[in-house]
Amino acid sequence: MGMQTLYQKVNADRIVRRIEELAKCSMTKKGVTRLSFSRESEMANELVAQWMQEAGMTVRRDGLNNIIGRYEGKWPDAPVLLIGSHLDSIIEAGKYDGVLGVIAAIEVIQTLYENGMRPNNPIEVIGFCDEEGARFHTTLLGSRAIAGNLREEELFAKDANGITLAEAMKEIGLDPFQYHTAARHPKTILGYLELHIEQGPILEQMNQACGVVSGIAGQSRYKFQVEGLVGHAGTVPLPLRKDALAGTAEMILAIEQIVLQYENLMATVGKLSVFPGASNVIPGLVEGTLDVRSIDDGTRRTALNRIIEECKEIAKQRGLVCEFTKVMESPAVLCSSRFIDVISSVLEERKMKSVRLVSGAGHDAMALASITDIGMIFVRCKNGLSHHPDEFVAAEDIKIGTSVLLDVALKLTS
Ligand SMILES: [Zn+2]
Repeated sequence: MGMQTLYQKVNADRIVRRIEELAKCSMTKKGVTRLSFSRESEMANELVAQWMQEAGMTVRRDGLNNIIGRYEGKWPDAPVLLIGSHLDSIIEAGKYDGVLGVIAAIEVIQTLYENGMRPNNPIEVIGFCDEEGARFHTTLLGSRAIAGNLREEELFAKDANGITLAEAMKEIGLDPFQYHTAARHPKTILGYLELHIEQGPILEQMNQACGVVSGIAGQSRYKFQVEGLVGHAGTVPLPLRKDALAGTAEMILAIEQIVLQYENLMATVGKLSVFPGASNVIPGLVEGTLDVRSIDDGTRRTALNRIIEECKEIAKQRGLVCEFTKVMESPAVLCSSRFIDVISSVLEERKMKSVRLVSGAGHDAMALASITDIGMIFVRCKNGLSHHPDEFVAAEDIKIGTSVLLDVALKLTS
């Protein structure tokens, strides 16, 4: 047996064991349900704190219940590299979304610790308390607090039982009005690194264990209304109809054709309500949603304008009226070119393809991008499936992803 290089010493069995143990901190039997500031999240934080200590870190929780382990570097006052992901889940989620990134980061530090290695810069592992926003319908609570972007009025967001965020924080012994103490100064931070499951099918299709994220797509959410004329399904001939649903169908197909003309563009009509909604009545009104995403904000805006124009034109030709209303808009967030280069170089050293992926989903890295450089590694998940109890990542891919994370962290801190 030859000498193992450090990255080969990553213990995938330990990671898998810890992921399984965390999955038990759940409200339900079907999948994982771990809402923020719940009993289950406190159990998870305790386990994570214990593993951080085993890995040679000092542990604290900050003003918003993010759990943070610190591994000192040779230069104590140097800017710190943050590595993390989230510990909360949606309702009936899988075991890996978020959790994998936290446990992989702990494994990185434990591998350094067990081999007597110290980076130059300190490294902190963060388990964010609330990324999904499943309890209070406010996403990225933990990471936005660290970035200093949380607003006081958000403390009064309510969960399904009418409990406010402030009350939930008090219940676990935090002073909600000290949430701002979680904020970090940009000068004290070297950057933020996150490993996360891909939540899409591209790596699987390309037969790659992991890839480098170029950025997180910007997003526009609209609702729309198509108004026509109700009529009897048996008596109004086609040329005289103003069928709102038939018009909407033509619009949706037109949206597909527009999307095909751009690279890196997604558009989805995910919800339709048809009124009056009877089998023998011509639909008089359709309400729907439109979700448009791209890593390029210009592309997103241009495509969105074309979609709205085209839909209005289709409506006009059919004697319908079509209105779009903006619900939400968020700009794209790019990963830092330095981080992308370091991740790519590690992948190439390992003879892996440096597949560039755009994240279509939001992540804690989005919030951190307002105060520091960010980089993300995606790990292949089975069938691209996430937010579902059947979510699965192979132990072999976990080992590869974590060992890449280890080398990236070392390159950034030495
Ligand atoms: Zn996630």
